[in-house]
Amino acid sequence: MNQPNDAEARRAIEPVVVYPPDTLDPPPMELYRAARAGASRIAEHRAEPREAACFRVAAGQFFRISSVEGSQVGDLNLWAADDLNERFFSGKTRALHGTHVTTGDRLWSTIPHLRPMATVTEDTLSWYGIDEYGGSVHDVIGTRCDPYTHHALSGGGEYHHCCHSNLTRALVAETGADPLSAELAVHDVLNVFMCTGFTRDTGQYFMKASPVRPGDYIELFAEIDLLGALSACPGGDCSTGHSSDAAQCHPLLIEVFAPADGALTGWSSPPRNGYSRNHGL
Ligand SMILES: [Zn+2]
Repeated sequence: MNQPNDAEARRAIEPVVVYPPDTLDPPPMELYRAARAGASRIAEHRAEPREAACFRVAAGQFFRISSVEGSQVGDLNLWAADDLNERFFSGKTRALHGTHVTTGDRLWSTIPHLRPMATVTEDTLSWYGIDEYGGSVHDVIGTRCDPYTHHALSGGGEYHHCCHSNLTRALVAETGADPLSAELAVHDVLNVFMCTGFTRDTGQYFMKASPVRPGDYIELFAEIDLLGALSACPGGDCSTGHSSDAAQCHPLLIEVFAPADGALTGWSSPPRNGYSRNHGL
């Protein structure tokens, strides 16, 4: 291999974190916990196996995604309720918080809005940490299973219940949008409960059986008014494959909780990003 003489020295340079998040205002977790303690459940939705469900959460409310009947991965999309162009930005969320999210991490929206859409307030799988393969739970590195990648990899196969298609159908049903514009609003997901990482030797995206069990949940605080969609991935627990009907699949439960009046005194929904959008023009 054509290596320079100082190859080892170059490799030995220590990395620095690209975006240390220390200058961001920390989420007021104590306020959230106190508000959640007095909250009441106001809505319930189910994402059926190999289907998706939409749900709405007002700013200041909480939503919980639970495993209910068996180990199951969910693909989550979030939009600003009043503007489908402001959507979850998995890439920047990853850059700010890491490849997987847990309690205290925030889900950020796309440029030019770039503000917290939601904050993770509870995660019963936070004990998992990072396993010996480099795997962890709730990733923001995958995209979503989709019929185009499946078509390319399978030599022309057609499968209509990938998360991309499930999310598209759910958004059409919820908003009445035409299928093409609904599909274009579907975006890279938070892979709820999915256990993933990159192989150490080849850097390839891997998945392994999710550690989620019925009763496990992740809960988030809505920082802005949200429209969400959750797909119960055709991969089930994503231990073997996806983009087919082969895996055992289970539903996922979505519950919305509203705090008592006055429980969020002092909190306000974050404004859109304050950059001037001048771009030096
Ligand atoms: Zn999927």
